[in-house]
Amino acid sequence: MIRKLGAETLVIATHNAGKLKEIGALLAPYGLQCISAGSLGLPEPAETGKTFIANALIKARAAAEASGLPALADDSGLCVDALQGRPGVYTADWAERQWFEGPAGRDWCMAMGKVEGMLCELGPDADRSCHFACVLAIAWPDGDSTVYEGRAEGTLTWPPRGTMGFGYDPVFVPMGETRTFAEHDPDEKHAISHRADAFAKLVAEQFGS
Ligand code: IMP
Repeated sequence: MIRKLGAETLVIATHNAGKLKEIGALLAPYGLQCISAGSLGLPEPAETGKTFIANALIKARAAAEASGLPALADDSGLCVDALQGRPGVYTADWAERQWFEGPAGRDWCMAMGKVEGMLCELGPDADRSCHFACVLAIAWPDGDSTVYEGRAEGTLTWPPRGTMGFGYDPVFVPMGETRTFAEHDPDEKHAISHRADAFAKLVAEQFGS
């Protein structure tokens, strides 16, 4: 028996503004009241899992336990075939930069450059195939949970192009396209992204008849 979300408040267990915006837009038609873990002051748990599923469940369960409400978390990343699926679950970590002064921050130019540098080391004919992976996990305060997996296949381009989206969008060209995700307007990206693929599965199961 599939556990379903009722007409209740759902905590979106992310502190990433880009993801929050995309998840809010994807959930808008389903009449749920969404609040972010950040606005509730919930701490961000350490993502110690070795898979997208494990990390999505860590985040959703932590938010559900702390808030007493059902929670939805997303774990996602870029998997490059020629790099044996890296950066994978470490996608955000590859952008981590500790400045000599001031707080740590994420530097997406550095992260995209690191991936490109590793591909260049493999030579001019390196396979540039990759995919974005997304796992959505819903957790209930009583410990129940369910997950949905999505993918967007594509290739890496260089130099980065486009100003929309976030993270690695400027170097990701979805399959069958010439523009990067960062050159797609949000509605176009929502129609074909890894998050949209996972959401389609969530919506079919949670809100389908
Ligand atoms: P996490 O799921 O919070 O661990 O972060 C995964 C990282 O993958 C994000 O910080 C982004 O850099 C990257 N990522 C995930 N989805 C997308 C996307 O749709 N576009 C660009 N980068 C993404």
